[in-house]
Amino acid sequence: MEQLSDRIKAMEESATIAMAQKARELKSKGVDVISLSLGEPDFKTPKHICEAAKDAIDEGKYFSYSPVPGYLDLRQAIADKLERENKLSYTPEQIVVSTGAKQSIANTFMCLLNAGDEVIVYAPYWVSYAEIIKLAEGVPVFINGDIENNFKATSDQLKEAITSKTKAVIFSSPCNPTGAVFNREELSAMAEVLADHPEIIVVADEIYEHINFSGEHVSIASMPGMMERTVTVNGFSKGYAMTGWRLGYIAAPLPIAKACGKIQGQFTSGTNGIAQRAAIAALNGDMAPTQEMAKAYLRRRALVLEKLQEVPGIKTYEPNGAFYIFPDVSEYFGKSDGETTINNAGDLCMYILNTAHVSLVTGEAFGAPKCVRLSYAASDEQLEEAISRIKEALSKLK
Ligand code: PMP
Ligand code: GLU
Repeated sequence: MEQLSDRIKAMEESATIAMAQKARELKSKGVDVISLSLGEPDFKTPKHICEAAKDAIDEGKYFSYSPVPGYLDLRQAIADKLERENKLSYTPEQIVVSTGAKQSIANTFMCLLNAGDEVIVYAPYWVSYAEIIKLAEGVPVFINGDIENNFKATSDQLKEAITSKTKAVIFSSPCNPTGAVFNREELSAMAEVLADHPEIIVVADEIYEHINFSGEHVSIASMPGMMERTVTVNGFSKGYAMTGWRLGYIAAPLPIAKACGKIQGQFTSGTNGIAQRAAIAALNGDMAPTQEMAKAYLRRRALVLEKLQEVPGIKTYEPNGAFYIFPDVSEYFGKSDGETTINNAGDLCMYILNTAHVSLVTGEAFGAPKCVRLSYAASDEQLEEAISRIKEALSKLK
């Protein structure tokens, strides 16, 4: 449609959401699709969190507009959590609660970027980073990790990518889509490079912090000199299985937090009040359900890695966190089953969806065209069945 803006015409649709939609459509036609495309816990939100939401409804006090950056006691609970778990001292004024970490990231870049500002993006990267940066008129500059070093770009690559236009750097750890976790030494090397460029803001997306098999989650903001120039992004979707509740937050230097509050005040206002009350219970309550979910993901990682070893032509590695595996499938490029030729990872995902009825996401969407993303936030049975089906479908490609 002609009337649509150049802005929206230039924007790519979210590939994770598009693939999940395709899987849903096939399912609605009665096809037995196993959906491993959407990065979404397959667990229910823990009971004590749901109870807090029910209590909040019964109390009847939380039906009106909430303060734009979130209820003060929620922001205090977030500040306490950051102190307790991440060794970060923030005041509630430095915290902005939003409608998902997605909005937190969008707020942040809308507040930081002028036209032409560069943002260094550690790749493979989560789909929405690049589109949000472009929407804010920034220019994403990718630094690529590869499978041999568990997809982690090095601090030397970071150093080389910095120009006079660099405004910010963004990465996720644990990473979506690779599951890579930046350890203390790697983050320290990153901080060392950035020490020469105090004007560059770091956006650290820690939404998978509770799904980390490496033994330690390190927040880059806790490193010397980093607190003043880091925006720590986090949320409740993954660790507490609360994707549909839409709750994320940033902890940031005060001027950035204030700016994010300002933009949110014009776009959406404070997020859902009942969900915020539930979030307080999540932060202050029992962490056992979160730990149980992380244990289940660890078990499934082993299962998926073992099963994938049996599939010829798929190159894997061991992800250290989140619930994704991001194998290199490029050996299949150029092959055909006699009808369909696989030219790229997108073709392979469509072939697997149509033939094996398993939905994955193409690596192209994450800046890694040789790979596909498989989310193992699914039951053991579904994962076993899915990989058997994939193996069978791939065996037809010659
Ligand atoms: N960052 C990363 C790395 C993610 O995988 C997600 C998942 N959608 C988000 C941010 C956004 O999460 P949400 O908006 O559900 O809080
Ligand atoms: N973060 C999830 C994913 O990568 C959810 C989908 C989305 O928000 O894009 O699949």
